[in-house]
Amino acid sequence: MARYTESQCRLCRREAMKLYLKGDRCYSDKCAIERRNYPPGQHGQSRGKLSDYGLQLREKQKIKRMYGLVEKQFKSYFKEADRQKGVTGTNFLVLLERRLDNTVYRFGFANSRSQARQLVRHSHFLVNGKKVDIPSFLLRPGDTVAVAEGSRNLGIISESVAAMPRRGLPAWLELDTAKFEGMFKGYPSREEMNLPVQEQLVVEFYSK
Ligand code: SF4
Repeated sequence: MARYTESQCRLCRREAMKLYLKGDRCYSDKCAIERRNYPPGQHGQSRGKLSDYGLQLREKQKIKRMYGLVEKQFKSYFKEADRQKGVTGTNFLVLLERRLDNTVYRFGFANSRSQARQLVRHSHFLVNGKKVDIPSFLLRPGDTVAVAEGSRNLGIISESVAAMPRRGLPAWLELDTAKFEGMFKGYPSREEMNLPVQEQLVVEFYSK
């Protein structure tokens, strides 16, 4: 399946919330959600109430777009989460949060998840001291993620690190900005993830 290549801001407007897909712009008054918080398209302002199925579908699309995944990958995470012990919805979000590209973004080494994915693919990061260029690599408790020494002067990374304080560091990560290195301390709880999503609707969507 091809990746979505049109305006990222349309995706946020479709889901009626900020998905933080465009880095700095998302924190400025240029953000489309600040300006036009209604669905895109001719009938965007006159949409009616959604059915249960519609609500489940929208929630699935919202989370999928937030993490920048295609349907096949997204569904495979759900299957894995369903196979694990515990609450499927929470397992699902934890799997998404464990991805290397997401963690690079959470550490503030990139301005958006899509930028993080590109940087990972270009081998700018080490996991436990070894280069890893697979964005979907899943981190385990105790794993370290560091910017490769030759990449620390890259403007794109240093600018992201400088802008990090306004985003804040999640509780399950530890960061040493001076060393350009962080640790994935442990799997986050649902409360720690503090995500404005209803993952139960995704569980219902795929459980049909
Ligand atoms: Fe979404 Fe960012 Fe565009 Fe705002 S600026 S609508 S948060 S992608």
